[in-house]
Amino acid sequence: MPTQESFHDLDSDPALQRHIKVERERARKLRKTQWWLTLINTGTCHYCRQTFPASELTMDHKIPLARKGKSTRGNVVPACRPCNQRKQLDTPVESLLNTLDTLPS
Ligand SMILES: [Zn+2]
Repeated sequence: MPTQESFHDLDSDPALQRHIKVERERARKLRKTQWWLTLINTGTCHYCRQTFPASELTMDHKIPLARKGKSTRGNVVPACRPCNQRKQLDTPVESLLNTLDTLPS
């Protein structure tokens, strides 16, 4: 029966899991590039446009990896922690999925 099980397909899709793994590794390398270091040293959060120390900025994927986003220069932006968290709260579907995953079955 196509009940709630279909909600979990996204998380258990092996191709997507592979994609996320590859792109996370790419993001890790991208963080070490001069391009990224220059960006975070400029210190501007992509979302609130405020200035932060480089250590306060995180790498945010505009299109999340879970939605087939990639770790490319066009898809990653510096985001301060509050914006990063706020953005996560703004994706109710994913939050819901995470909640479902933690519920006892
Ligand atoms: Zn911000």
